Amino acid sequence: MRKNVETSVNPEVFYFGEDMPRKPKKPCNYPGCPNLTDELYCPIHKHQCNIDYSKYKRDKFDKTFYSSPEWLKVKRRQLLEEPFCRECLKKGIYTKATMVDHIKPIKQGGDWYDPSNLQSLCWSCHSKKSIEEGSRYGKKVYTY
Ligand SMILES: [Zn+2]
Ligand SMILES: [Zn+2]
Repeated sequence: MRKNVETSVNPEVFYFGEDMPRKPKKPCNYPGCPNLTDELYCPIHKHQCNIDYSKYKRDKFDKTFYSSPEWLKVKRRQLLEEPFCRECLKKGIYTKATMVDHIKPIKQGGDWYDPSNLQSLCWSCHSKKSIEEGSRYGKKVYTY
């Protein structure tokens, strides 16, 4: 097969200096964005899409984790060992716990399965904590 001379040239070496030939810019791929770019997205949306993507990946990962058999096993054991909501108990109220919470959130390096990082909470205390964490870190926190 005949080698294509044009594409076999290393562009980094071939195109140098200020006379670097430029490919015509295309409109940003982001819907409704008028900016022109050499890449798929303009710098603004390139950044934005990276954020969206890592957020999507993280949310998906959270979902996978919280429905994994390992976690459900840990959760069941934790609820057996500590059947009452820890937060409610602090106020002297016995509320049946239905949620298992990571005291130090995973996102901050908390251990997934370490019993000392787990606490049983009732639904209302858990969602309160989730909301506080969510607003403090500006992230959506899933409640299970
Ligand atoms: Zn754009
Ligand atoms: Zn509670």
